[in-house]
Amino acid sequence: MIAAAGSGERLGAGGPKAFVPLAGRPMVEWSIAACRAAESVRSIVVACPPGHVHDLAGGDVGVVDGGVTRAQSVSNALQAVGTDLVAIHDAARPLVTPELIDGVVATLVEDPQADGAIAASPVSDTIKRATAPEHPGRNAYPMHDMGNALRPMGEVEETVDRGTLWAAQTPQVFRVDALRAAMAGDPERVAAATDEAMLIEAIGGRVLIHPAPADNLKVTTPVDLRLAELLLAERSGQ
Ligand code: C5P
Repeated sequence: MIAAAGSGERLGAGGPKAFVPLAGRPMVEWSIAACRAAESVRSIVVACPPGHVHDLAGGDVGVVDGGVTRAQSVSNALQAVGTDLVAIHDAARPLVTPELIDGVVATLVEDPQADGAIAASPVSDTIKRATAPEHPGRNAYPMHDMGNALRPMGEVEETVDRGTLWAAQTPQVFRVDALRAAMAGDPERVAAATDEAMLIEAIGGRVLIHPAPADNLKVTTPVDLRLAELLLAERSGQ
């Protein structure tokens, strides 16, 4: 399942991020191609932003309308899933490879007691927890412009031990029964979820970490877009 229904506001490309041109294709097409080439993938369904369903319809890919929240998009697409396992991937990670998808699936398959497995990368920066900033808050500030902020964005409260920290990425692979149960949990928590693993965690499920390659980056800002463009152009040239 590919979640592609975000608005892409932080990228500022004037339209949904998943359909921004990237190295010659709309961004979502790179993820679709990786899914097609993955041995563990049987069928593909994409949650699309309003007005873009027809851009993908008609081929071998199932298409559903996305929702206002990411969880709603995932929930809509989940209705089209008929397998025991589902791999959820963000269209915003166009550098995903078939090997990574198959690898995360294999990690889950090898542990029958686990409910999910997620691609993740070890945190390399030293991580600080800071006080909530004065208005405008960190989340209200455009991420690509954060470096130009003229005032402090909070004060350091503590340094978090990074030795056990991982940055969660996609693909995230789940047993469909567990994911359905997790998505039926507290509606407010579900609506606020930034990934599906946190919903599995909330119902006491077990989620395994599958280390991701360094280039499985997420396109959030224009700089990420340029980097992804360079890396994909390099890959296509090989
Ligand atoms: O906003 P963010 O980049 O964290 O979104 C992660 C992924 O979730 C993106 O691929 C985006 O298209 C998807 N999404 C979605 N439906 C929403 C919001 C985000 O499918 N309502």
